[in-house]
Amino acid sequence: MAVDCPFCRIISKEIAAEIVYEDEEIVSFKDVNPMAPVHLLIVPRRHISSLADLKAEDTMLMGRLLSVANDLARAFNLDKTGYRVVINCGQEGGQLVYHLHLHLLGGKALSPSIA
Ligand code: 5GP
Ligand code: ZN
Repeated sequence: MAVDCPFCRIISKEIAAEIVYEDEEIVSFKDVNPMAPVHLLIVPRRHISSLADLKAEDTMLMGRLLSVANDLARAFNLDKTGYRVVINCGQEGGQLVYHLHLHLLGGKALSPSIA
């Protein structure tokens, strides 16, 4: 756990969040500042700072994060209408929290622009 990491503190239940899913290696909770009717963050329990820090041994974890995103999209009824999964990486990628996370966005027609 990284001491000053807000997501580590959510995972350890030190600070509150609306958790919608958890298993032995992944936690998902609602974004505090939602950009769409459904806006979930999907994070590994283990502190990995960003996508750029992934190691070869994290490949399976990354696959599981995407798979959980798909399961949650179904659970939140986004699978028929569609949804977006985003990872911001680094300063110019718009990353604000340096604990790897996927955004799952849906529930409205999202802008076709991704930049
Ligand atoms: P990033 O720009 O790093 O990809 O996105 C970080 C996201 O985390 C933002 O959408 C922001 O609203 C969300 N966020 C930041 N701090 C907290 C928090 O303490 N609780 C929750 N639920 N979301 C947070
Ligand atoms: Zn962390």
